[in-house]
Amino acid sequence: PKYVYDFAEGNQFMADLLGGKGANLAEMTVMGLPVPPGFTITTEACRAYLTTGAMPEGLAAEVDEHLHALERAMGRKLGQVDQPLLVAVRSGARYSMPGMMDTVLDIGLTDDSVAGLAAWAGDERLAWDSYRRLVQMFGTTVLGVDAEHFTDALRHAKRTKGVAGDLGLDAGDLRALTATFKDIVRERAGREFPQDPREQLDMAIASVFASWRTDRARTYRHAEHIPEDLGTAVNVCAMVFGNLGDDSGTGVAFTRDPATGASGVYGDYLPNAQGEDVVAGIRNTLPLHRLADLQPQAHEQLMDIMATLEEHYRDLCDIEFTIERHKLWMLQTRVGKRTAAAAFRIANALREEGVIDADEALRRVTGAQLAQLMFPRFGDTDRVPLATGVAASPGAAVGEVVFDSATAVRRGEQGAAVILVRRETNPDDLDGMIHARAVLTSRGGKTSHAAVVARGLGRTCVCGAESLTIDAEARRFTTADGTVVAEGDVISVDGTAGTVYLGELAVAPSPVADYFEGRRTADSDDLLRAVDRIISHADRRHRLEVRANADTPQDAHRARRLGATGIGLCRTEHMFLGDRRTLVERLILASGEAARAEALAALLPLQRADFTRIFEEMDGLPVTIRLLDPPLHEFLPDHVELTARVAVAKALGQTDAPEDLLRAVDRLHEQNPMLGTRGVRLGLIIPELYDLQVRAIAEAAAVRIRAGGTPHVEIMVPLVGDARELEMVAARARRTVADVARESGVDIRYRIGTMIELPRAALTAGRIAESAAFFSFGTNDLTQTVWGFSRDDVEGSFFPVYLIEGVFEVSPFETIDREGVGRLIAIAVREGRAARPDLALGVCGEHGGDPASIRFFHEVGLDYVSCSPFRVPVARLEAGRAVV
Ligand code: PEP
Ligand code: MG
Repeated sequence: PKYVYDFAEGNQFMADLLGGKGANLAEMTVMGLPVPPGFTITTEACRAYLTTGAMPEGLAAEVDEHLHALERAMGRKLGQVDQPLLVAVRSGARYSMPGMMDTVLDIGLTDDSVAGLAAWAGDERLAWDSYRRLVQMFGTTVLGVDAEHFTDALRHAKRTKGVAGDLGLDAGDLRALTATFKDIVRERAGREFPQDPREQLDMAIASVFASWRTDRARTYRHAEHIPEDLGTAVNVCAMVFGNLGDDSGTGVAFTRDPATGASGVYGDYLPNAQGEDVVAGIRNTLPLHRLADLQPQAHEQLMDIMATLEEHYRDLCDIEFTIERHKLWMLQTRVGKRTAAAAFRIANALREEGVIDADEALRRVTGAQLAQLMFPRFGDTDRVPLATGVAASPGAAVGEVVFDSATAVRRGEQGAAVILVRRETNPDDLDGMIHARAVLTSRGGKTSHAAVVARGLGRTCVCGAESLTIDAEARRFTTADGTVVAEGDVISVDGTAGTVYLGELAVAPSPVADYFEGRRTADSDDLLRAVDRIISHADRRHRLEVRANADTPQDAHRARRLGATGIGLCRTEHMFLGDRRTLVERLILASGEAARAEALAALLPLQRADFTRIFEEMDGLPVTIRLLDPPLHEFLPDHVELTARVAVAKALGQTDAPEDLLRAVDRLHEQNPMLGTRGVRLGLIIPELYDLQVRAIAEAAAVRIRAGGTPHVEIMVPLVGDARELEMVAARARRTVADVARESGVDIRYRIGTMIELPRAALTAGRIAESAAFFSFGTNDLTQTVWGFSRDDVEGSFFPVYLIEGVFEVSPFETIDREGVGRLIAIAVREGRAARPDLALGVCGEHGGDPASIRFFHEVGLDYVSCSPFRVPVARLEAGRAVV
């Protein structure tokens, strides 16, 4: 293979081979822009080096050949004694990894050539400064000497001389410092600083290759989801000097403002300096427009080039440039990173300017960026957090600490902003969570109850803040450093960063969320206009419908305003908690027909009212109501507590010890409730429960129809593993609806379908589809059962190891595991549709609101995704993006 490409041989599309920097240097070279001559050694050579530990065969000869060409182009030889050619050796991977890998400048300087550089530059100080920088950079990055040895020596030199800055050292000082640096190399690296320029070059190249494997590079790749096996390219480029005097300088620039997206160039310039000086922030830079006064010609050329680049790349470009004695050189360009707000503004501006079309504008933004824009945020702070945990549900919330649901409700209703702090939450905390601004727990990960429910409610949540010791009884928690926070104290919770602060941080509401919630119009701000235009285009292009998971009329209302075209999952669990729990308890424990009928009669009107209001909010749109799912024991008193109560009552000789209740609880106690009597199993052992729910649904539909409404009723059965389970429930449900239709004289249209959330259901989907009008993939349970790990426990335990070791790059509870869970979904889609071509298909697990997963659901052919109301705009955007 060919391992080395001259800049003139590549182009921007060769980034896999030449890295991002190399590909764009090539592109600029080919465009005829002033790029210093150079060449790129490919990522393939790097991969070969990393596998074998040796430079691949033929590479040395290719480097020779390209080095000679470079020398010819420059009319100078690498490190020649008079007027030496010096080169920069820079890393450059496929994806930008700023500062993570090695760069060595001024390669080619030696004891012999340093005088030649001084003569050419007419500046002895510059020559010695460059040489000492080379020894320092080479010593640390190539030879692995601890950087402190050099910085200590530099500090010592300045102290001896009595100067504060590097500029206080003259040529003689720097010459002495260079000698000291070479001593450090000899002592610490056990070898001389190499005096052969070509040896310097080869060692620098090898060191850049090897820097792919450093811990910090790995950590960065892990965080950014960059694959481990890409390797980096190496760019070897003639050095140009921005530090030759006031006619020289260096800078960075953007063709638009990368922070806001505002049009107009933007950048910084530093006269008489090298590139690192800008990055290091040692001296104050000038705004780019000042270059117009200092160097009018170079400025004008730079403006032309920036316009050319933006036109060529049709996007925001960032560049690095150097001016050497009035001559402008381009050292780098790339399509620039930008904030989420800038991404939307720039995409829309370029579309309005006619540079890109609406599809391309849609491609240029992401659901993740939109999500970021929708959350209120804290401003910057230099306070130290009280604790750090899992950033489970984004947002910024300030409020007083409460430790139980009842207090949250009470204080919330009194108008206080409260933060519910619990070790972990369970369904009984729901009311408290609804009344809280944020939820903070010390246990559990991103799919813990607290995290899932908080995301669903749009509440900020930090969970798994393990350094906190929460004492709910004493109504206080203690941090790692012993700070005690008591009930009523104010804290600030940053769900985007996963941090918690004592006291109140200032919060700014999100204008984008205000726009989607109907509190602001699109025309009030150019960001909102951009969001509006882009999401409207997504709505024109999408194939996937977006529904919402909503359990209350309020949620349904909000979901509709946010653009949902139906409810894909109405979980009926919470309708049975709170005050109604005793009614359910009575039903479960009822011993005779009469007692059971009485309990049912009490629940029916409550359920009917729930559904009536939801149908009203979603009039004309589908509403999928899921029959009760949670394990039985959740409706019964706590086993341990009850045992104690009975023991105490008996010891006191009381006659009314709740022994029957304890026996029932004993009987229903399960070791593994998530694999126990829940979902359809519950419906089959207490058929009256599902009868009740179906009757409530049908009666609510009848009420709505009589009122002139158009309810689209979908009844969904959870946790089905076999067609027979569904058939039994469906048969009873049909009879119940028919009864209601007869009684009310109303023709009730409805569909019965099932969740696909067990592997067996996916694998027998063809059979199940015979009695299901629709499937909704419950990817939370499906992920849990396919992997065989508990969705409530994993993240705090072995997940960190799995993530670090690369078993997966993102939690499979967050982004769909295409290979495993995704494959089962694909099978179920294929076999379900084969059995019933008009089968409707959707997903209602947490993944329905995850941008990366939505693309998969589109590809696999689902009809809709259903997600929490707050995620609906994000899902709309991604549904559109999946098409373009
Ligand atoms: C699921 O399992 O994906 C689902 C939507 O149901 P739940 O989260 O209520 O178990
Ligand atoms: Mg489920």
